[in-house]
Amino acid sequence: MNHNLYAAVTEYFTKAMPDAKTELKYGNPFQLLVAVRLSAQCTDKRVNMVTPALFERFPDAESLAKADFDEVIKYTKSISYPNSKTRDIIAAAQIIVEKFGGTLPTTVEELETLPGVGRKTANVVASVLYGAEVMPVDTHVFRVAARIGLTKNAKNPLQAEKQLEEGFDNNILGRAHHWLILHGRYVCTARNPKCKECGLTEICHYYLNAQQ
Ligand code: SF4
Repeated sequence: MNHNLYAAVTEYFTKAMPDAKTELKYGNPFQLLVAVRLSAQCTDKRVNMVTPALFERFPDAESLAKADFDEVIKYTKSISYPNSKTRDIIAAAQIIVEKFGGTLPTTVEELETLPGVGRKTANVVASVLYGAEVMPVDTHVFRVAARIGLTKNAKNPLQAEKQLEEGFDNNILGRAHHWLILHGRYVCTARNPKCKECGLTEICHYYLNAQQ
């Protein structure tokens, strides 16, 4: 574990992105769960285009639990994998009403029992809403962490998650998650990372190796 590298990355992003947070729009905890589920293999931008109307019609678990699939999909059809995502959000709403009294559960373990909610989604929701000290690893986090050198030989998201949770201070994991996502979305892009616009060139392993 390279503690100096973690410290330098933390220092950089604390100044560069002091207010990093999710770009998904939501008005209550249930809406965040729905937005995160809809955002799998889809952009936040696209999700934010459909959720205002969806949430106006179905603002909470109670209303969505009673909804017909055919009505909901009218709102979600432009999202990737609309059928399975629509089924999942309705089923999740029904379970939240039946088992949790209409309130979104707060632990990662309980969230993972909901349809369509895997480890990453549960971690994102618990981190954003409840400050859970976890590091959800999506494609951006996985790539950016590996390039900078924060993770070493991580073969899968779970290995990356463990390394990042060990490297960053617990109390900044939530922010660090958004730092790496936003950096990956706008600067350290999958193809052709914009290294000339990046403030990490002095410490980024990918960049330093490319200069040799
Ligand atoms: S220097 Fe380049 S590869 Fe490294 S984090 Fe910045 S954009 Fe990504």
